[in-house]
Amino acid sequence: MALPRRSEREAIAVRKFGPKSHGHPSIGTKCPACQQVFEAGDYTALVCLGPGDDPEEQAKAKSGRPYNAVAVEVHWECAGGTSENSDATEV
Ligand SMILES: [Zn+2]
Repeated sequence: MALPRRSEREAIAVRKFGPKSHGHPSIGTKCPACQQVFEAGDYTALVCLGPGDDPEEQAKAKSGRPYNAVAVEVHWECAGGTSENSDATEV
């Protein structure tokens, strides 16, 4: 999956994904925010953490350029998602 670049993240805030279909690969894995497992039907969001350990992406981040960010998936509610930006993307 292509992760949003920082500049895009700032423009779109938190993007909503879901609802999860049965058999989605992340079902059964834990949400790092609340430690509850993802279930079919859940809506989720990707929270960007930063450039990770990639030196090239770190250099871009330091110089203020857009970079490919490492992101973690959390429940939509755990990301503080609101109904104003709730257009869901099928995953
Ligand atoms: Zn959660």
